[in-house]
Amino acid sequence: MHRISLILLTGLLILCPSYKLGDRIEQKQFIVWNTGQGQWTTWVTENECLHFDVGGEFDLSKKVARLCGEKFNKIFLSHWDWDHIGLVGKFRVKTQHFCIAARPKGSASPHKERLLAGILSCLDSETRVASLFQQPMDDPRFLKKSEHSANHLSSVFWLKPASFLIPGDSTADEENFWKKEVPASTKGLVLGHHGSRSSTSLALLDKLPELQWAVSSARFSRYGHPHAEVVKRLAQKKIPLLRTEDWGTLHFYQR
Ligand SMILES: [Zn+2]
Repeated sequence: MHRISLILLTGLLILCPSYKLGDRIEQKQFIVWNTGQGQWTTWVTENECLHFDVGGEFDLSKKVARLCGEKFNKIFLSHWDWDHIGLVGKFRVKTQHFCIAARPKGSASPHKERLLAGILSCLDSETRVASLFQQPMDDPRFLKKSEHSANHLSSVFWLKPASFLIPGDSTADEENFWKKEVPASTKGLVLGHHGSRSSTSLALLDKLPELQWAVSSARFSRYGHPHAEVVKRLAQKKIPLLRTEDWGTLHFYQR
């Protein structure tokens, strides 16, 4: 598998004030944007940007558009929560080519439904991305919970070229359904539900023997993510934890 190196863009920008993001980056990379409490991650190639959720507290649509605005943008949305879909409209108007590759499951408020209603679905199937969680609609335990929270319906994506697992806000209960689908070669994990203690079970971590790092996309003062129990579980497994709140936007370059 490819090895991926981590570069902290924040440091580069401080050292090189004239550095322009769009001018230089041609290398494939996986980005976890520092969007505060929420999630927006992007796989960037020469011609495309694949986004896994487009949300968060901080409006980064302009910044992401500087990198992806002229490329082809495919959007994968894990679930209906605002911190995962809230910036779709703002980003869409800043890009030339834009389609939704995966829509949130289940129903949502009319306001949220309207946000996505006019956006075209991507025509081609995406072989670089695996959707790991097909909800067990015949399982009564699952159905009961899914009535209460969009998190239980959250899609789980695996990005093959970066070997990254992106579980949205999927909970530990659902991890039991999809953990067997996760490739053991997974190198990176965007922590489920921003590092909430109700996700990232030890049982899931046991399935990730080659995991090199975990990322928490969150702002601690908002909901206490990442939770101390998750930090402890990762330490127990000797997996380094990177927080966007500490390091800013994180870039994992492929080499
Ligand atoms: Zn969330």
